[in-house]
Parts: sequence; structure tokens; C-alpha cells
Amino acid sequence: MRTNLLMLKPIPFKIPAKIRDELPSDQKREKIISLLKRKFNFEQAHLTSAPEVEGDILSKCFSYSAPEQARDLGIYPYFREIQQATGSHVVVDGRQIITVASNNYLGLAQNPSVVAAGKAALDRYGIGCTGSRFLNGTLDLHRELEKMLSNFLRREDAVVMSTGFQANQGTIACLLGRKDMAFSDRENHASIYEGCAVAPGKTMRYRHNDMEHLEYLLQKYSSVKGKLIITDSVFSMSGDIANLPAMVKLAKDYGATLLVDEAHGLGIMGDRGAGVANYYNVEDEIDIYMGTFSKSLGSIGGFISAKAGVVDYIRHKAAAFIFTAALPPASVAGVLTALDILIQEPERRNRLQENTEYVKRGFFDMGVQVNNNKVPIIPVRIGDEALTLYLNRLLFDDGIFTGVAVSPVVPTHNAMVRASLTSEHTREDLDTVLGAFRKYGDQLGIFQQ
Ligand code: PMP
Repeated sequence: MRTNLLMLKPIPFKIPAKIRDELPSDQKREKIISLLKRKFNFEQAHLTSAPEVEGDILSKCFSYSAPEQARDLGIYPYFREIQQATGSHVVVDGRQIITVASNNYLGLAQNPSVVAAGKAALDRYGIGCTGSRFLNGTLDLHRELEKMLSNFLRREDAVVMSTGFQANQGTIACLLGRKDMAFSDRENHASIYEGCAVAPGKTMRYRHNDMEHLEYLLQKYSSVKGKLIITDSVFSMSGDIANLPAMVKLAKDYGATLLVDEAHGLGIMGDRGAGVANYYNVEDEIDIYMGTFSKSLGSIGGFISAKAGVVDYIRHKAAAFIFTAALPPASVAGVLTALDILIQEPERRNRLQENTEYVKRGFFDMGVQVNNNKVPIIPVRIGDEALTLYLNRLLFDDGIFTGVAVSPVVPTHNAMVRASLTSEHTREDLDTVLGAFRKYGDQLGIFQQ
């Protein structure tokens, strides 16, 4: 029998009824945090960096006990094994629960036509390409997808890569030469950080979404000829939207090139679902469009779309593309069908939008400030990390799978439970989710009016 090594242990902590029912909200919250920390020795029990240890290269691994401690405490939130999935529900530990933790925004990961296309490609090409796109792994399907993406995004060409991470990392690393400089939002995705770290050129980080700071840096380094501004279009943790119109202007004013990561914009934002650039009507002004297949398109993979010359350069220079195996046939075929559905069925986007408005209104009615925009990522800021992980566990026990973000993903005192919605959630699902947040918000004194 398969055992689930990560099966959650019971939580060894109950809030005393006296605190839960009698204290006013603000006092209750502080009291619970201090109780939790006393019980959980929290500083030791989360993903802090491993302590420096003397010894051989592996010594640090054997003295790294934080995950085990968190498992013992029942608040470990990672690697939950999903045994079955639909758009809105998953089975974990044999229990069917609602998920607000996926990026399956349009419910296409399990869509029957998408799955059928994947199966047909499996039959025709087999399970993998056993080689890199560059030498021996390019299928006619890869090229078909590149053409379809370029048409949809109204760009000259596109190159399909094996993950979104590699698309960012490989592209930045090969474009940013020794004399060039990148200007990157501090909350950009880790793959952008990695690309900048690998590239020979320098990177300046501007304060999150702060156009004045970006302009200050562009001005300061105006003598640098090759300038690359890089931003997520939708920031994956906060759900904030980048100020693309302002960035387009700055890019023009300072002669910079603009790379926009539309991982969370594609399929969701804009009247055609082409992303935040489409939403702001600045599509023609974005030099390099990066996107992924692992969110609204329900699969895995990433791509870059730009002028043909730029795409051809990246195709021949990006190590993260050339020296890795090609995206497998079933995934490519699934994405082709998913993209077709994304284009043909705007009602999915509309349903997602209605769900987003409904849940955000629900949070506002509870007195919780969540991001007031069209993005289906809803950060519920708790602040304290212990309380965040504890809430995440309570929600899980109530049948709701939420995401969490604690340090180093977000700053230490900015921990959050993160809900992301799909077009497949029913009103009943959403009411259950809101009801659970209301219940625990009250019990833990989390949401203060
Ligand atoms: N960019 C952003 C903004 C993301 O959120 C992600 C995935 N979390 C990526 C890039 C990487 O994409 P993938 O998971 O498809 O490799």
C-alpha cells in the first residue's frame, strides 16, 4: 500500500475557549500569537535558512530540522499529495476538498477536449521528445503552437520552452550583456531574479511598482546604452498589477527595452485575454512578452514572443532552452487546444471575473482589505507567520486548500494566506470558503475592523 509520508499530524494546540470567546479582537490575536509561539517554538519551525555548520558538504542537510519540526507541529503547509483533481476540488488524504490554491484559472487542466488532445499526441509521438528543441526534439506541434501564440498575441514570432522559469531565466541571461543593465521590480518572480543573477550585466532593483524610483534609476544610469526594464504584469503573491502605461512611457523616454512576464495575466486580463498589456491597450509597446502554460492554460511550459529577430536570437543563445529537453508532446497538444478554448470561450474569463468580484466583495464585507482589482489572486494578509500557518491548517481541516506565503517569499511580517480562484468554483464553493475565513477570522481575532 502507498503511504502518504506527508500525512498531516493532528495539531497539538487548541485555543482556550476563554480566549476565543471572551477577549476583544485585538487582544485575542496577540494572545493567540504568543500562545502559538510558546507551543510551537516557531522561530525554529519554519523555512529559515539552514544554520551554518562545520563539516563536509552534506552536514548542513543532516542538521536541517525545520521541516520535520513543522510537520510535528501539524502546521507544515507544503507538498500536500493530491490524489485526484478537478478544476475546483482536489482529493487529499482521501478527502475531497475545495482548492483555492491552484493556478488553474480557467479550469482547463482537466478539460475533456484538452485531455483528449494530450492523449492523441501521446499515441502519435510517445511520452517525450528525448532531446532538446535545438537538435532533435522539435515537433511540428511546437512550431504550430509558436505560430498560434504569435497570431493570438499579434507579434512576429514566438519560441516555446520547457517551463516559464526557463523562459525568463534563459532570455534574460542571454540578452543582458556585460555592459547592459536590468531594472527589475523587487517583487518580480524568482525566475527573473535567477536570470539576472546568471547574466553578465548588472541589475538594479526598484521598489515594488514605484515608477518614481524606476525613473530615478533610469536617470542615474542614463549613460548605459543597453537598458532592460523587467516586470511581472500581475505579481504572483500580492496580485498587484504593474503600471504598464507608465513603464511604456519611461522605456520610451530613456531608450530602454521592456520585458513583461504575463504568467498571471495571460488568459485573464484584457478583452481578448491577452494579458495586462491587452487590458491597458499597450500591446504594441511591449518589446518582449513572456508567458507560461502552467496557469490559465492548465499545463506546463513557457514562451517568449517578440519581433522575429529577437526570437531567433533567443532560440540560438538561451542556454536554458538549448541545453534541456523539449516540452513533451502531450503537453504541447494540450496547450494548443487550451489556447483555442481560451480564445473561443470568453465566458470562462467572465465567470472567473464574477467569482473574483464575489469573493473580494465578501472579504470587504468582513472588513478585510484585499486587492481591489480584477486579478483572481487574493492575498489575505495575516502578518504573523505562526498565525498564518495555523490558519492555513485550520482551513485545511475545514476542507479548504489555500496557499500560504511566508518568508523568504514575502517579508517576515507580511505573511499571508493566498486564495486563487477558478472559473469552475460554484457560488456554494465560494460561500464555504468565505464562511471559513469569517469563522476563523473571528476565532483568532485576525480581521480587525
Ligand atoms: N513568472 C511568474 C510571475 C510566475 O508566477 C511563475 C510561476 N509561479 C513563473 C514565471 C514560472 O513559470 P512556470 O511555473 O511555468 O515555470
